Amino acid sequence: MSKKSAIVVGAGIVGLATARALSLKGYIVTVIERSEKALGASIRNFGMIWPVGQPDGTLYNRALRSKMIWKDIADSIGLWYDETGSSHVAYYEDEWQVLQEVHNIFLDCERPVQLMNNGIITGKFNGVNPDGLMGGLYSDTEMVIEPREAMTSIPIYLNEYLDVQFIWGKTVTAVESGKVYMNKDEVEADIIFICSGADFETLYREEFSSTEITKCKLQMMRFKTSDEDFNIGTSLCGGLSLIHYNSFTAAPSLPKLRERYQQDMAEYLQWGIHVMVAQNSKGELAVGDSHEYGLTFDPFDQAFINNLITNYLQQFALTDNWQLIQTWNGIYSN
Ligand SMILES: Cc1cc2nc3c(=O)[nH]c(=O)nc-3n(C[C@H](O)[C@H](O)[C@H](O)COP(=O)(O)OP(=O)(O)OC[C@H]3O[C@@H](n4cnc5c(N)ncnc54)[C@H](O)[C@@H]3O)c2cc1C
Repeated sequence: MSKKSAIVVGAGIVGLATARALSLKGYIVTVIERSEKALGASIRNFGMIWPVGQPDGTLYNRALRSKMIWKDIADSIGLWYDETGSSHVAYYEDEWQVLQEVHNIFLDCERPVQLMNNGIITGKFNGVNPDGLMGGLYSDTEMVIEPREAMTSIPIYLNEYLDVQFIWGKTVTAVESGKVYMNKDEVEADIIFICSGADFETLYREEFSSTEITKCKLQMMRFKTSDEDFNIGTSLCGGLSLIHYNSFTAAPSLPKLRERYQQDMAEYLQWGIHVMVAQNSKGELAVGDSHEYGLTFDPFDQAFINNLITNYLQQFALTDNWQLIQTWNGIYSN
């Protein structure tokens, strides 16, 4: 029996994951990407593989499986990754209370987490601000990859190991049953997957506008430090991340914490800011982020948002010798 063919539109991480899955199922796969390399959300992110943020059950299990696949591929091709785990740190009684509750809930679900007092955290990880630190929750399941490296290497891996073909620099302008058009060019396939990220305008515009899917714009920064050997040793998050991820909603004290943030940090909540740090193999530190929702965004980064992020960062990280080297934004579908 001849093999079935598949086309995947978009070479972001969703397109690449789809291409891998189809190829493993025996399809002959072609990925079509409008740019010469994928420049969407997947190359702009922290590179955090983040099971701790997922609620128990299907989503958490899927996140663990995703991590396993990342490790498999990275080991096959020598892609850098670091199993840093994650540390959420508390500087206020109410944050510490939520972390303790989350710790108990996670332990009941057999998640590999540890509650650490301030001395243990500052002894184990570098660059955590000891002033006012009450403690933190360490989770063992998180890891970091370098998105700029991954988005170049994974297509090469898919091509060399799984014979996935890539057409770069061509926009898919229309799709009909069994056929995609790139202006006048057309390609046929048995099955077509649209993995076009936050582009709701080029393909299936009406269908996208009739769903509740929207877009989210995030502002990010990258720092380097003057100390070449500086290794933070974990992915670090401040208290605001507790109200960002669904996995923490199980904590009974979370609504009270959110209320306090709403009163004391309204501007942070208005711009969807929570602050996380991920370090790459060169020692650079990706820091973000904000969350603005809508279908159309101001294309410019707002300095005041980056200031809010860095002010909050200084509450929990020692940043004296950090130097800002890049700022950018990214948009993903939500
Ligand atoms: C700043 C930021 C930080 C983030 N941090 C993390 C993180 O640390 N961990 C995490 O898990 N998630 C993170 N996310 C979310 C994650 O990056 C996205 O969910 C993910 O990258 C979406 O992948 P995608 O393939 O759907 O989209 P994209 O990466 O945007 O890819 C879509 C691709 O489709 C192509 N395309 C679109 N239309 C067409 C067309 N008609 N023809 C041909 N090609 C087309 C585009 O050119 C693009 O390359 C972050 C997101 C952002 C923006």
